[in-house]
Amino acid sequence: MKKTIRDLDLSGKNVLVRVDFNVPLKDGVVKDNNRIKEAIPTIKYLMNQGAKVVLCSHLGKVDHKDPDKCEADKKKNDMKYVLPVLEELLGSEVCYVDEVCGSKVIDALNNLSDGGVMLVQNTRYEKGESKNDPELAKEMAKNIDVFVMDAFGSAHRAHASTYGVPELLNNEGKETAIGFLMEREIEALSKCVEADEHPYVAVLGGAKVSDKIKVIEGLLDKADKIIIGGAMAYTFLKAKGVEVGKSLVEDEQLEFASKCLEKGKDKIILPIDHIVSFAFEGEEYMPTINENIPDLFIGLDIGPRTREYFAKELANAKIVFWNGPMGVFENPSFAEGTKSVCESIAKLEKAFSVIGGGDSASAAKELGYKERFSHVSTGGGASLEMIENNGSLPGIDIIQNKK
Ligand code: AMP
Repeated sequence: MKKTIRDLDLSGKNVLVRVDFNVPLKDGVVKDNNRIKEAIPTIKYLMNQGAKVVLCSHLGKVDHKDPDKCEADKKKNDMKYVLPVLEELLGSEVCYVDEVCGSKVIDALNNLSDGGVMLVQNTRYEKGESKNDPELAKEMAKNIDVFVMDAFGSAHRAHASTYGVPELLNNEGKETAIGFLMEREIEALSKCVEADEHPYVAVLGGAKVSDKIKVIEGLLDKADKIIIGGAMAYTFLKAKGVEVGKSLVEDEQLEFASKCLEKGKDKIILPIDHIVSFAFEGEEYMPTINENIPDLFIGLDIGPRTREYFAKELANAKIVFWNGPMGVFENPSFAEGTKSVCESIAKLEKAFSVIGGGDSASAAKELGYKERFSHVSTGGGASLEMIENNGSLPGIDIIQNKK
């Protein structure tokens, strides 16, 4: 069990919190504040305990190889855009420093009162962040007494702010702990890793098999059924000898798909019909009569019979893990499959249901079903990797255990 912020004496301490404020931005406006919202309980608790709270996070990507691109990325992904949203959700003023570390940060920290909060610049402004540069970690850890990890969405990355800093503080005999969001994420995802209840049904979709190879391998050992939809399904169907027309297929993954089908003979559930069109943006579309897709057609969503079939497979589930859309759901004509899977899971009364972030989380939110899931993870990549690695992620492993 990891040490949590409840286990710490925080009064008057300088506490560095790694939050996940990697939110979508458009022209400097935060488009979805969910990740900021989810961090608020931890921040409020630390304030109420009288800590001096320093918040850090990455925000988008910064290309350090090309100087022009680097400047443009920095402009686009400036943490100052998060500040007003954070202040509003927190209901208090937050001191902002446009540097990640260094004298400006230290001066601001010295001036911060107990219970005060400051936000520093996007950690990726620093070249050393993604390389877990020990010099950067040392700078970031300066004058810090306690490190709190609350960025589940970044816990699969061993970067300076998620790994280097806590590693250094551990070595210096200082305390490291997880926040409330991290605690909830670990508890929920652990159920999907431990797989203690059955039937356990995993639903995987999205575009690429290659992104999900390891999670499929992991789930073959844990889950009773693995429902595969989205473009991923076509690689599996082709491996089975089914006609897939011009659908998206990863030919280099056909061998892997065949092996999975052999190993998971009774576990892997594939579509039995599809919604197809001549083009991705297809204005004209139709269902197929069976699992085969005629030449020249592209499979863009699961068909009506598949929706029923998947719903039946989900009906008695006790644990459900869902990651990835069942079709090109951005186009309403091909969103029915994703909607239907979302509804089938949301309807389950006795199941522990987890959405592994990303597109599936947005779909559930848009459809108004978010509250019906037991847990909607803030980390797509992190939740997949947690299942792949049997519960282990660098950003969690480096945090001290409870005594
Ligand atoms: P991922 O990031 O792997 O979860 O993939 C999400 C993307 O998969 C979405 O943008 C979907 O539009 C896309 N996708 C889902 N089904 C299909 C399909 N049948 N053909 C092409 N792309 C698809």
